[in-house]
Amino acid sequence: MSIFRRSDTSQPHIALFPSAGMGHLVPFLRLASMLLSHNCRVTLITTKCTVSVAESTHISFFLSTHPEIKHIEFQVPPMQPSNTATDDPFFIQFEATSRSAHLIHPSIASSSPPLSAIFSDLVVASGVNKVAVGLGIPNYVVSTTSVNFLSLMAYLPILTSDAAKLTGSTEIEIPGLTPLPISSIPPPFFNPDHPFTGSILSNARALPYCKGILMNTFDCFEPETLSAINNKRALSNLPPILPIGPLEICELKKDEGRYLPWLNNQPAESVVFVIFGSRTAMSKDQIKELRDGLEKSEYRFLWVLKTKKVDKDDKEDLEDLIGCSFLQRTKNRGMVLKEWVNQQDILAHPAIGGFVNHCGWNSVMEAAQRGIPVLAWPQHGDQRANAEVLEKAGLGIWDRTWGWCGQRLVKQDEIQKKISELMTDEKLKSRAKKVGEEARKATGNGGSSKKTITETIESLKQNK
Ligand code: UDP
Ligand code: UDP
Ligand code: UDP
Repeated sequence: MSIFRRSDTSQPHIALFPSAGMGHLVPFLRLASMLLSHNCRVTLITTKCTVSVAESTHISFFLSTHPEIKHIEFQVPPMQPSNTATDDPFFIQFEATSRSAHLIHPSIASSSPPLSAIFSDLVVASGVNKVAVGLGIPNYVVSTTSVNFLSLMAYLPILTSDAAKLTGSTEIEIPGLTPLPISSIPPPFFNPDHPFTGSILSNARALPYCKGILMNTFDCFEPETLSAINNKRALSNLPPILPIGPLEICELKKDEGRYLPWLNNQPAESVVFVIFGSRTAMSKDQIKELRDGLEKSEYRFLWVLKTKKVDKDDKEDLEDLIGCSFLQRTKNRGMVLKEWVNQQDILAHPAIGGFVNHCGWNSVMEAAQRGIPVLAWPQHGDQRANAEVLEKAGLGIWDRTWGWCGQRLVKQDEIQKKISELMTDEKLKSRAKKVGEEARKATGNGGSSKKTITETIESLKQNK
């Protein structure tokens, strides 16, 4: 029998609780619009102050275009960073939200109609689980990464309890799963005092008590890992993993879109699109190597660059960074931007032939949906684990020797060579197209992801 409170609503009311950063917000907004299209009521919980401007403008825009969504602003109590392992404002916000997530209770306890479920970010799982138990409703975790990386996070409590496991070998063995190379474990995981590690550890312990783990992926993208976990051959204490992706594109706030007329004038599949997500800053030296590699490759390009983690700090002048002469020389075949762009629309443009990207999971799914081949250049966090998945699925290529961000300077000739491979490898192109077909099948009528979200919502209607 279900331990959850019975409610007679045929229109489930779901509270969504994302954590900091566009990489977390975007999938939650997509999920919100998907739930509305399945006739659910939605409450969106966001923190009162966001780290980036991109988050606050997208939240305002989304709420203005979806007035039926109820909004709760959660005031995260101010917190002194607990240690000096990082000064990254996103990590500090993860830790603050993670620690105070249980304080959301009064704001949602009085929801009308009462909530049927909470869909919460992994970073707040532990606190939200307690609240959900108090309200007698299920908490589903929404994990915004690959199943490959999720399995590492779920195993982290065991890994960190035995230091030898993290240092004694070139691979991490999670029983029942393909071993992960130690070079793909994010550096903070070797430091138990790092706030990223701390937040993941406490929330990973809460995973077995969640009702399910909703993931922006699809059955045949990571089939082995998914089936090993869901068939209890690996990490058997986890609840079901529910692949519901690629999450459908929803209308996000439009940018200036200056690149669209330019893209319209480029031949089909001729442009390399280079972008490293919303919070990855590249060093000036690395930017110069990338610039020269792009130029030497002789391909057309659309390049979005960032020099600071948080958008409002990014004040460098574009010309100072890459030089007027480069802009002059490449003006007929390239465009460089230093601003927020609408990535999902760019990837959908027929002129795009290849994607150079850091492998943030949303970007991977956006490329999968369009069948665009990726040159993965993972920089931080889950991105190397994600690149492993992308390569195995046939969506992209990468060079493992490029290392983590800042580990070494990747030289222009290496970059040129890999970009040429990305744009000329016909096998890669056709495998990527196939991934795109599979992705669209998964979310289409009768597809595996569509079935999974429909069944999840049905179970909420029936209080199963
Ligand atoms: N994004 C965008 N425009 C930008 C930068 C990022 O639309 O200028 C979007 C991108 O399409 C993706 C999200 O922001 O949906 C970034 O998430 P991802 O997981 O790819 O990387 P992160 O930013 O978390 O490193
Ligand atoms: N938890 C839960 N229900 C339980 C026990 C634990 O939801 O019956 C969650 C809770 O959020 C807690 C997390 O799992 O924070 C870890 O619990 P555990 O007892 O394993 O470790 P600890 O609280 O000591 O970290
Ligand atoms: N970082 C980032 N995007 C991510 C993860 C990390 O921009 O998705 C940044 C973050 O600011 C961090 C730095 O990259 O401080 C180095 O990341 P790492 O994971 O090595 O952690 P560190 O211990 O250096 O903070």
